[in-house]
Parts: sequence; C-alpha cells; structure tokens
Amino acid sequence: MRLSRYFLPVLKETPAEAQIASHRLMLRAGMIKQASAGIYSWLPLGFKVLRKLENIVHEEQMRAGHIPMLMPTLQSADLWRESGRYDDYGEEMLRITDRHDRDMLYGPTNEELITDIFRSHVGSYKDLPLTLYHIQWKFRDEIRPRFGVMRGREFFMKDGYNFDLTKEDALHAYNRHLVSYLRTYERMGLQAIPMRADGGPIGGDYTHEFLVLAETGESEVFYDSEITDLRFGDREIDYDDVAQCQAVLEEFTSRYARTDETHDEAVFQQVPEGRRRVARGIEVGQIFYFGTKYSEPMGATVQGPDGKPVPVHMGSHGIGVSRLVGAIIEASHDDKGIIWPEGVTPFHVGIVNLKQGDSEADAACEAIYKSIEALGLEPLYDDTDDRAGAKFATQDLIGLPWRITVGPRGLKNGVVELTCRRTGGSEELPPEQAVEKVA
Ligand code: ATP
Ligand code: MG
Ligand code: MG
Ligand code: MG
Repeated sequence: MRLSRYFLPVLKETPAEAQIASHRLMLRAGMIKQASAGIYSWLPLGFKVLRKLENIVHEEQMRAGHIPMLMPTLQSADLWRESGRYDDYGEEMLRITDRHDRDMLYGPTNEELITDIFRSHVGSYKDLPLTLYHIQWKFRDEIRPRFGVMRGREFFMKDGYNFDLTKEDALHAYNRHLVSYLRTYERMGLQAIPMRADGGPIGGDYTHEFLVLAETGESEVFYDSEITDLRFGDREIDYDDVAQCQAVLEEFTSRYARTDETHDEAVFQQVPEGRRRVARGIEVGQIFYFGTKYSEPMGATVQGPDGKPVPVHMGSHGIGVSRLVGAIIEASHDDKGIIWPEGVTPFHVGIVNLKQGDSEADAACEAIYKSIEALGLEPLYDDTDDRAGAKFATQDLIGLPWRITVGPRGLKNGVVELTCRRTGGSEELPPEQAVEKVA
C-alpha cells in the first residue's frame, strides 16, 4: 500500500477523552473513530488488525474441530422468554420493537439461538459431539462504556457452543477450548492466563477466564508467579486425545490463579510468599460448562443409545476479538506508539522515502516495495511529501515491526537503513539484504 493512496487519518494531538494508552493510540493512529458512546467505526488500519485477529481465531477453532457458521445480530425475544433470560438479563440488553410490535433484541450472546438451531436439526446421539461457533457483533448496553474498544457497547466476539451426550464429553470440549485458546492468544503475541472464575448462580469449577496482565485491566487478579513461565509453544496437539487435552488443562490451571470473584486468601497463603502476586488483568476470553441449563428448558434433547431422550450437555466459550486489539496495544507499546507483534501487524514493513521526487530514491523504494510483496508480505510505503521527522513519527505511532529508510545519501554508498521497532536498533545494509532480514 502506498500511503498517498491510503486512508490513515493520524492525529497529532492526544485526544482528551482517552484515559488509557491503547485508546489514545488507536485514536491517534487513525484505527477507530467513535460513532456514539461505546460504538466505533473501524477505519482501514484498525479494520486490518481486527481481520487478522478474526482469522487467527477461525484458524485455531477449525484446527480444534469446531465448525464456523453465522447467526444474526437481531434476535426474537420469544426464544429468550423460553429460557427465562428475557427478564433476567436486565439493562444490558438492548430491546427493540419492530413495526408489527414484535419484541426483538440485539444479541448480547447466542445460547438461545444456537440451542434452537440444535433442537430443530439434531435428534440422535450419533450426531454428537458437535461444536458450532461464530464471530459476530454483539451489543451490551454497558452502564459505563470506556477505554475505547475495550469496553464498548457494540463489540466483536467469537462465541462457540458445544453439544455433548455426557458431562464427560462436554468436559473434553471444555478442555479443547482451553487448549485452542492458549494457542490463539500466543499467536497474537499475548500471554493470557487462564484463571478460575465465578460460575455464577450455576456454580461449579467449570469456568475459566483468560486474563492479560496489564495495569489498566479492570479485574483484580491473584496468582502464583510460576504461572507466567508457562508457554504453549509449538507443541503438537491431537484435539481428539482426551488425556492430552486434560494434561494441558492441568498444566495450565493447577497453580493458584484467580480473579477477585473467586479469590480465597487462605488458599493463596499456601503459595510461597515470594511467588504471590496481586495485579490487574484484562479479560480477553472465558470458557464455561453449564450442563443442561438451556437444553432442559428449551427441550434440546437427543435420543440416547437406549432410545430414551436425554438433554444435551452444553458449554459456551467466548473470545473478545475487538477487545483484544486494545489488549495487545496495552501489552505492547512505548511512549512513541504501538509495537505490533509480528502475527497481527497491519503491515509488515514501512518504507520511508527521505527524498520523494529524487529519481534514485523513488526507484529504490519501488524496487524494495516489489520485492517485499514478492515475499507475500505487505509493505506500507510512505511516498508522501512530508518531512522526514513527520514520517518517522507516523511510523513509530503505527508500530510496524520494521522500517526501511531510503535516502540519496545512503544510496550513494549502496545502503538503506533497517530499523526494528521493538528494539529501536538500526543497521545499514544493501537493499536486498534489508528485505531478506524482514522476511
Ligand atoms: P466483562 O467482565 O469485561 O464485562 P463478560 O464477562 O461480561 O466481560 P463474556 O460474557 O465472558 O464477557 O464475553 C466473552 C468475552 O467478550 C469477554 O471475555 C470479553 O473479552 C469480551 N467482552 C465482553 N464484554 C465486552 C465489551 N463490553 N466490550 C468489548 N469486549 C467485551
Ligand atoms: Mg460484562
Ligand atoms: Mg467478566
Ligand atoms: Mg466473562
């Protein structure tokens, strides 16, 4: 992409309303624009990152054997009356009436809708196990939308639902989700720690939230510092292997790690003092096993092996895709701007032409641009007439992992400058070698 043809409305001023770094930087880097409280337009740069995260989530869910689909944003209130949640859900639900006076709502989540699909089409235990998911906009009328996309009212979420014959099978689905989430967050350059969360009125131990440690996080968390040494890495996983998934769950959840809702000071005291940590975190996902909570009232049963109808065991599993854009920036920035992890960066390399209009500099930039594209990577070429200082400031702000700076002086010696955004380190290299290094 050539910057002169792109739409990147960067702001020089720090917007006064933004209280935390990620919100400030997303506004300044021209990634989002507020449309109304807690509702944002995703401008081209922000949209690119959102799409990258969405793709990673799709790839990891499909790898785990979960099946993508798409449900609508608007739902009929009738299904929610069946489950009993129409009245229970409260003020966070945006209720809408259509021209025929039918009660509708903008979905805050999809348990009812998916259960209805399931009961309409699945009748036998032989069709199980089944896990369906979608990535769709949600609406929750948050009392205090804030921190930009971190606590929006309209937000983009992956939600998946497993249907199983037995509790045991449903717990394997739970473990599969935990494993796939660990992989997903690591690919985004994040450490998200599974923490024991509050099961709510249904109770039980079968819910974990995934938290990214950050001072600006809204949750207070308590954990054994050993947990931050764990990495999923590139280990091979067979998602059908019950014992293997269970072992990963045990590895990642056996140490103390809880949010304030489930924190137990007496148990925490048993962690050696030097390893006890109290910090803040951003909730980027949650997994849940809830048994027959929806299948029973909504009649989602299958015929079991003995011919008798049994309500299916279900769970739901969410990833906050749009919140993750903010969470990644919270975890990875400096005072100049964003520092994108390689896996999610909107462009791979910025090319800065120090003397636009100089035929040699222009030709060198064009050649670099083409060879980066030939590698299957996306360059962002700053071919504008801006001063060098302004070009560097924009590059630092938008945080691409690499910058190649091209100017007449360097070209006389056959070199360009390659700069790493994360370390700030620079080296002079012939153009071909600079391209090789970013590949
Ligand atoms: P929170 O505790 O932050 O209100 P939640 O527990 O209500 O979140 P879930 O129902 O678990 O949210 O939804 C799954 C994921 O969706 C959350 O882990 C979070 O990452 C994301 N999410 C929830 N609410 C919002 C929001 N208002 N804006 C952006 N993302 C959100
Ligand atoms: Mg909430
Ligand atoms: Mg929560
Ligand atoms: Mg949650």
